[in-house]
Amino acid sequence: MCPGSRRLAELQEMLRFTSGFVPNAVQMISEHIYKDETANSLVDDAMFTIIQKTLVSCIREAKPLGPKPRSVNIKVIILNTLSDQEVLPLVYPESVNRLDITEYVQLDKEQIDCIFAMVNLNHLVIMNDEEVLKSDIMVALLKICKHLKRLELDDYHLLNDPELTILPTSCRLSYISLFRCKLTHSHITSMISDVPTLKDLKLTVTCEPDGQCGCLKQIQSVAGAKSKTDDQELMKSACVTNIQVYESSGVFDHLKDSNTLKCLKVMDSTAEKSLGKFTGQCVKLEDLELDSVTFSRYSDGYSLNGGSLQQLKLNDVDIDYRIILSTINISNTIAPFDIKLDQVRLIGINADEFKSLLLKYKGVSIESFSGDEGEVKTSTLKVVKESTDLVGKTDILHEDSTTNEIASRPRSRFNERTKNCFPCVLF
Ligand SMILES: [Zn+2]
Repeated sequence: MCPGSRRLAELQEMLRFTSGFVPNAVQMISEHIYKDETANSLVDDAMFTIIQKTLVSCIREAKPLGPKPRSVNIKVIILNTLSDQEVLPLVYPESVNRLDITEYVQLDKEQIDCIFAMVNLNHLVIMNDEEVLKSDIMVALLKICKHLKRLELDDYHLLNDPELTILPTSCRLSYISLFRCKLTHSHITSMISDVPTLKDLKLTVTCEPDGQCGCLKQIQSVAGAKSKTDDQELMKSACVTNIQVYESSGVFDHLKDSNTLKCLKVMDSTAEKSLGKFTGQCVKLEDLELDSVTFSRYSDGYSLNGGSLQQLKLNDVDIDYRIILSTINISNTIAPFDIKLDQVRLIGINADEFKSLLLKYKGVSIESFSGDEGEVKTSTLKVVKESTDLVGKTDILHEDSTTNEIASRPRSRFNERTKNCFPCVLF
């Protein structure tokens, strides 16, 4: 926590009063705070609000002899109310690193011009409920944000312009969160596949086919006229580490595999076939959480992943029991594989029979199990492969020393992984 900013909150009234007598004090105060923020990376949102409110009240008090336009340094601007907007014309725009625009403000042209001069933004949040910043203006703004690392958008409808890319021209994004947005399949797949810097992607969106993604051609073409080769060419590899997807039907039709994805959380009742194919081809997938998904089709060898899973959570899922068993069978991780089932409706077996089958599996321990007819109400399973029990013995370890080192401390590696996953959860 930042002690300087805490002190600022206590001194807010005195600084405002002083600004009335010494108008230029606002610049001095802003310089001091700016340096303090730079030195203290732990300043939180509440403090940023206090900093901004202090400056706004000082600017008001200093009028009309107060700070000249664009003379105040401020690192973070949070526009929550109409009065917050007063700070915009007085801010030195290149000093702003983060801008939050909530749904309660209305920006005029001069204020929008101020925002467009903020070329050093690395974190941008826009909640667009009352069309605070129209989509074409938002996209134009993104094009000049060459240093943007974090982008959070709420309530943007971009379906009408399939050619539009919402990604900045020079993309350094590591985190994107889109909430209540409407986009095309191509928008989404380009985010998941074309941004090498992107680590975390969280989507609660509606997305639809478009001219480029191929879905529309598929629908329009005569059955069988489209070859499998064409389908493969349209599909892309995901290069993101964490993905959380809600309600975005059809996205997984365009993803074929990933050698970077570690955490995937999906809530999508329409995702069965394409999602299953995709997760099976994610060679580093460790955490998989599925909510409201149905997996009714089982074929020999079909599993939810190729063997790298260390954590599987199924909530409100309909699934052929053989897919769960196959996923356990194929698991080849050194770390224990934890499985949590809640309201899982088994296809092809009742809960008691399923439990009996699990008891026969070597390496599977049932930590809790509650079932009723065809549904597992709640259950926690742990899978420890035989090789894990023998960790440290040379006969089961790979030849290279790196693998040996990791294998000898599976537990710490596992703990570190769980600590780092899903750094930002919005819902
Ligand atoms: Zn599509």
